[in-house]
Amino acid sequence: MNEYDSNRIYDLVSTIGYEKTDFKKKANCLVLNTCHIREKATEKVYDEVGRIKKEFRNSKKPLVIISGCVAQAESEEMLKREPFIDIVVGPQSYHKINDLILNYYRESKKINLTDFDTVNKFDKLESIGHSVNKTSSYITIQEGCDKFCNFCVVPYTRGPEYSRPFNQIINEAETLVNNGAKEIVLLGQNVNAYNFTNTKMNFRLSHLLIALNKIKKLERIRFTTSHPKDMSEDLIKCYSECTKLMPFLHLPIQSGSNKILKLMNRKHTREYYLSIIKKLKEINNKIKFSSDFIVGYPEETEDDFNETLDLVNLVGFINSYSFIFSPRPGTPAMEKKLNNKNQNKERLNKLQNLLSNIQIQENKKFENKHCEVLVENKITNQNKFFGRNKHMTPVIFTSNNSKIGSITNVKIESSNRNTLFGSEINNKIEAA
Ligand code: SF4
Repeated sequence: MNEYDSNRIYDLVSTIGYEKTDFKKKANCLVLNTCHIREKATEKVYDEVGRIKKEFRNSKKPLVIISGCVAQAESEEMLKREPFIDIVVGPQSYHKINDLILNYYRESKKINLTDFDTVNKFDKLESIGHSVNKTSSYITIQEGCDKFCNFCVVPYTRGPEYSRPFNQIINEAETLVNNGAKEIVLLGQNVNAYNFTNTKMNFRLSHLLIALNKIKKLERIRFTTSHPKDMSEDLIKCYSECTKLMPFLHLPIQSGSNKILKLMNRKHTREYYLSIIKKLKEINNKIKFSSDFIVGYPEETEDDFNETLDLVNLVGFINSYSFIFSPRPGTPAMEKKLNNKNQNKERLNKLQNLLSNIQIQENKKFENKHCEVLVENKITNQNKFFGRNKHMTPVIFTSNNSKIGSITNVKIESSNRNTLFGSEINNKIEAA
């Protein structure tokens, strides 16, 4: 989502004359669009500002803007703690960035703006064009979260759930496709909680997928990130009815233990999660999954952890993100007693080894088969291209004349944990 926001921030400032530069030292304005999910996010931002300060020690000070979720969480505090920062703007108010910049120059006054103004944000963004045309393009369709998992900062930094108007999203998708996008990735903190009602009807994510599926020049559709609780029947059905919806779903579970899921306030059980996986596999036998895991959540016992390992074996995730629990300021889990550090590390290693072995085995299954790859980039100065297969796995392949934005057949010759390697072919061999 930050990539989408960064592009949109650029689209906005370009309307008042700013241009991108590859030479940081030549910049007269630096925007740090920050994320608050990772550990020590706030300190990393101050460290980066410290580095910028040093770089500009002997030259004119640039305008320094901090946007994103760290800006939201720290707010006014940032201006007090680091005088090199000039403007702090939250993720729901960055559409006002031009006014903030112009005001700053008019009045030479530092500004902090961290209101939740989501409706106006998307109305404003609708009126400006997209300057970044990518084969695979993001569209934010929903923001914020009402789920309040006990470990998560999102409900506090992105605010309550908000869904953009249905037509606004379809129009944005059509614009991106006309600009050359072949894949649209719908984004939201709880993307499958998408829920927009106008005078005529209530629109859910399934309605968006069905409408996008009809856009002629669009080849692929994906969405992320989903909550298991919002995997409704109509959405599951899309995996058989929407031919452009890719057979891959990132569905975070966090833990395989019901006790831990309850302590996390995840609002679903292990059994419910597995029932969703089963339904999806029944409706589309090609579908693969990835997930997120938190290891060492307060009160996690060896038995709880083993339930997570067991669930990983049952589902066979092809890709996952796993971290040791780290408390985030302002969340209920912050108050909890932490588990033993070494034990947490051991558990994380064990989980990551298991996930990695499964991933290697899954990738090996592609070897000597063909797969359809959406070509995203040429790798500089080589006859090599980068793309992704239907399951989002990166593919690097040799070709003399592959076209960026096309879907091509690649024979996979080898693989490692993260990537498939092969050559472009003209004739299809056995499909993976
Ligand atoms: S559902 Fe996701 S975004 Fe919402 S609180 Fe839980 S982890 Fe955070």
